[in-house]
Amino acid sequence: MLRLTTFLLLLLFSAATLAGDDIPVTVEVKPVKLSPHSYYVEGLAGAASSENQGFMSNAGFVVTPGGVVVFDTLGSPPLATELIRQIRKITTQPIRLVIVSHYHADHIYGLQAFKALGAEIWAHQRGREYLASDEATNRLAQRRESLFPWIDETTRLLPADKWLDGDTSFEMGGLHFDLVYMGPAHSPEDMAMIVKEDKVLYSGDLVFTGRVPFVGNADSKAWLNSLDRLLKLQPKTMVPGHGKVSTEATGDLALTRDYLRYLRETMGKAVASMEPFEEAYARTSWKKFEQLPAFQAANRVNAYNTYLLMESEGMQKK
Ligand SMILES: [Zn+2]
Repeated sequence: MLRLTTFLLLLLFSAATLAGDDIPVTVEVKPVKLSPHSYYVEGLAGAASSENQGFMSNAGFVVTPGGVVVFDTLGSPPLATELIRQIRKITTQPIRLVIVSHYHADHIYGLQAFKALGAEIWAHQRGREYLASDEATNRLAQRRESLFPWIDETTRLLPADKWLDGDTSFEMGGLHFDLVYMGPAHSPEDMAMIVKEDKVLYSGDLVFTGRVPFVGNADSKAWLNSLDRLLKLQPKTMVPGHGKVSTEATGDLALTRDYLRYLRETMGKAVASMEPFEEAYARTSWKKFEQLPAFQAANRVNAYNTYLLMESEGMQKK
């Protein structure tokens, strides 16, 4: 019995010493102050790679006199650990709450580092679909290879502690927050966060600045509608899911909007004339977007998914 206990302890110990959390990132994760209470860190341009160590998405945090609210947790546990270290340089307030914009790998693999601190995780309930999907399992397996050692066997997919149903408001330390359900758009569970006193909007992946958006199996029609809703919120400062912060939301939403419109227009025409995807893709001019970061990694699959989406939209009309 004693032997078994010792053996288990040893196992636990070696698992703990090998945990991915212990392998620090060397990329710079530097908070930018946006307003009296709100900050963000900006991921590097392009798709996730071992060069950027998976640091290609943004995250934000809001320091209130009653604790810290974090918006998204970056793409690996070590990146989240670094974000926590940076937050600790700014405040000793406890990190109480983590809001998940949506359940895509580059925004959620850091959750476990915050959970270990005792933070509560909130997300829109449609995130459950992703957690239960093969896509989630496959993506994690793929990232365990492509982003090793920062993503490894100890990296887990974490559910929310509280699944939200729709729009939600809360208060912390005298500051007021609105969580606005924007999905289904970029994902079924998209949620944006507004810090009312600071007039700061964290948009999640509804907005990409300075790179080709990741469309995946997004509902681009609903996404375009959500962009209009986002504009009506009239933020002074908008933090996109990827790319630079914006102080001029209308102009900076344009890239995401124009790209989605262009995909729908070109792939829609191809579907209407029953042109095969390969031919339509080769014939389409991508001049306007091909110089942007992440074009090579994302454009073809974005176009293909849009092609399939336009086919199914066409079928629904019939
Ligand atoms: Zn995303």
